[in-house]
Amino acid sequence: MNTKYDFLIVGAGLYGAVFAHEVKKAGKTCLIIDKRDHIAGNIYTEKVEDIQVHKYGAHIFHTSNKAVWKYVNQFAEFNRYINSPIANYLGEIYNLPFNMNTFNKMWGAVTPDEAKEKIEQQRKDNYVESPQNLEGQAINLVGLDIYEKLIRGYTEKQWGRPCTEIPAFIIRRLPVRFTYDNNYFNDPYQGIPIGGYTSMVERMIEGIEVVLSTDYFAEKEKWDSMAEKVVYTGPIDAFFDYKYGVLEYRSLRFETEVLDTPNYQGNAVVNYTDSETPYTRIIEHKHFDFGTQPKTVISREYSEEWKRGDEPYYPINDNKNNELYEKYKALTEAQNKVIFGGRLAEYKYYDMDKVVEVALQRVKGILGQ
Ligand code: FAD
Repeated sequence: MNTKYDFLIVGAGLYGAVFAHEVKKAGKTCLIIDKRDHIAGNIYTEKVEDIQVHKYGAHIFHTSNKAVWKYVNQFAEFNRYINSPIANYLGEIYNLPFNMNTFNKMWGAVTPDEAKEKIEQQRKDNYVESPQNLEGQAINLVGLDIYEKLIRGYTEKQWGRPCTEIPAFIIRRLPVRFTYDNNYFNDPYQGIPIGGYTSMVERMIEGIEVVLSTDYFAEKEKWDSMAEKVVYTGPIDAFFDYKYGVLEYRSLRFETEVLDTPNYQGNAVVNYTDSETPYTRIIEHKHFDFGTQPKTVISREYSEEWKRGDEPYYPINDNKNNELYEKYKALTEAQNKVIFGGRLAEYKYYDMDKVVEVALQRVKGILGQ
């Protein structure tokens, strides 16, 4: 354990794994530590009833960046999964994102012109001058029916408060599509790694020493002394012992259940868009892999208030928190030995493809490539 490494990588998530893979490829030595008892961070998947379960929420890989797509395909073969969530509003089913299938179900609109006319009418009838909150903003963008059935309840559950108390800037646009296309993403490359994300990360860090169930801060000096450089992918406020205060997150809680039925809801993702159902969505994991196992695993997803010690999921990038983050970021400049990266150290929501992209850029800069 006393070996001197070129890099100590704190965090075995996607950022840490890409970084580790690249430094090893460049002939450097590295050690990864993680406080969890598994690798892969938030993209961790584990097998339950022979089904890959996305433990920290559903993850679909999608990207417009061909180089990133080629990069991840070195470590996994991706299946043909296309994300096409549906909304359940009190038993009425609508396709997402808002598209011709949604408008047909909502109003019987058949042609794009009919749908456009209907939305225009809905917007005009309920137009809110200078909207001050999310409700007014959403109605101005898509009209009352879509707001009431597909946006209001879901958004209120996500944020834990009424849409009239959520600032308008949260939604600048609401994409509407005038084609019968249920593909949620616009990116040309999409899929789920066959065998799960954990296997993909395992391949990335093949041959690299990993120490799990180990909190960096419990023995920070010891770990720091073992390497020339530290790559830190944990929360930035924790690194500086919360000296300016705590950065806030929105958290999630999952209730996962094995059901003795082969097919519970017929789709991987079903959003519950009414206010009465307490969870925001149900994930049926097997449908990410076109599974045909005799049983199924579902996770009900609840959006929750976050407090220190809870799992941080979504950063709350409002002015208060962004200013706090900038104060911490300024402190990183004096940390010559430490490289800060990833969703927690940068206090930023990053899709997986962006994490790969920024980690690759950063490591190349550091290796002088
Ligand atoms: P993490 O995976 O969080 O890794 C950081 C690691 O550092 C963790 O393993 C943690 O245990 C470890 N760590 C922290 N502190 C310490 C410490 N003190 N000591 C030791 N170890 C420590 N992206 C998509 O592209 N598609 C999706 O469909 C998608 N769905 C998502 C759904 C949800 C609910 C959320 C929250 C995110 C989703 N994402 C999605 C984003 C994706 O999860 C992130 O891009 C990715 O997980 C970020 O990787 P990371 O390495 O930066 O962070």
